[in-house]
Amino acid sequence: MHPVPTPPVIDQRLLDALPDLERYAAASTAFSHVVSIDSGLVGPHVVISALTHGNEVAGAIALDRLIRENPAISHGRLSLCFVNYRAYAQLDPAAPFGNRFLQRDMNRVWHGSLASDPTDAWEVRRARELLPLIQSSDFLLDLHTMPRKAPPLALIGPAARHRDLARAMGWPKWVMIDPGHADGKRLTDYHHFSDPDRYASAMLIECGYHFDLRTADIAYRACRHLLKTLHMLDSPARVSPDPARIITVTHSLVPTTAAEFSFERRFDGLQVIEKAGTLIARDGSIEIRTPYDDCVLLMPALLPSDGATALRLGRAKEFPDQ
Ligand SMILES: [Zn+2]
Repeated sequence: MHPVPTPPVIDQRLLDALPDLERYAAASTAFSHVVSIDSGLVGPHVVISALTHGNEVAGAIALDRLIRENPAISHGRLSLCFVNYRAYAQLDPAAPFGNRFLQRDMNRVWHGSLASDPTDAWEVRRARELLPLIQSSDFLLDLHTMPRKAPPLALIGPAARHRDLARAMGWPKWVMIDPGHADGKRLTDYHHFSDPDRYASAMLIECGYHFDLRTADIAYRACRHLLKTLHMLDSPARVSPDPARIITVTHSLVPTTAAEFSFERRFDGLQVIEKAGTLIARDGSIEIRTPYDDCVLLMPALLPSDGATALRLGRAKEFPDQ
C-alpha cells in the first residue's frame, strides 16, 4: 500500500501571481493563447511553451511576465505558447494535481502521425492546432515543474544537436539525456526535433517544485537564458559557476502493480545515493536497490500509477567538451 501523501502546501503568493489567460485568447497570432514578439529581422523562430501540463503553473507566470515586459528581441521571432490553457483554467487549490490534463496527457500525444490523428480528445485537437507553430520553430523550450522539491533539470534527447544546445546554454547544472517514455511521445520528442535529417532542437526544463513561487522565477530565468544564449537579447548569458553534470538514464522503473509499489523513504528529485545495493523501493515482493555507486534518482513519482514510470536511475558525469 502507498503511504498517503500529505496534501501539498501551495505558496499563496503563487496563487496570487496566476495570470488570467483569457487576455491571450485572441492574441497576436493565428493560434489561440500564443503571443509572438517579432523583431522584423531575419533570425531563428524560438517557441517557449508552458502549461503542457495544466497544473504546472510556474511557466505560465514566467511567460505572462515576459509578455508584459515585451523584451526587445534583436533578431528573429519569439512565440510564447500557453499549451493546455483549458486544463490550467480548472486549477483547484484543494486538489492541485487534478488538472494536469483534461482527457489525454498532452505530453504523450506528439507521435509522427499526429496531423491525421482522429482522436476526439481536447489535448489531441489542441496539439494538432499547434502543429504549424511547432513545425515552424528552430528552437523550442518546454517549461515544466516537478511534484517534489529538486533543483532545475534539463531533459534533452539523444541527438548531438540537443547536447549542443545544452552545452551552449551552460545552465541548468543538471542535464539528463532522456530518450522518452514508453507510453507516448513528448512535445520535445516530436519528429521535428528528433529526426536525424532535421535541424530544429528542443529542451524541456523541469524548473523546480510545482507549488513554490521561486519556481516561476527559475522558469523566467530559463526563458531569458535561452534568448541570451541565442544572442536574441543583448546582455550576455550568465553561466553557472558549477560545471554542468550530464546524466545518462540507465533504468526506468514501471511498477508491476502500482498499488504494491512503495519507496523505502521519501526521496527528493536528483538525490544521489552513494552506495550500490541501497534499498530504495519495493515493487510487491521485489526489492529495488541501487545498481551502482553514486546513483542519481530522477523524478520519483509522488503517486506511482499503473503503466507509468515511477522512477528513473542515472549516472552523472561532467559535461564532455565535445
Ligand atoms: Zn510536466
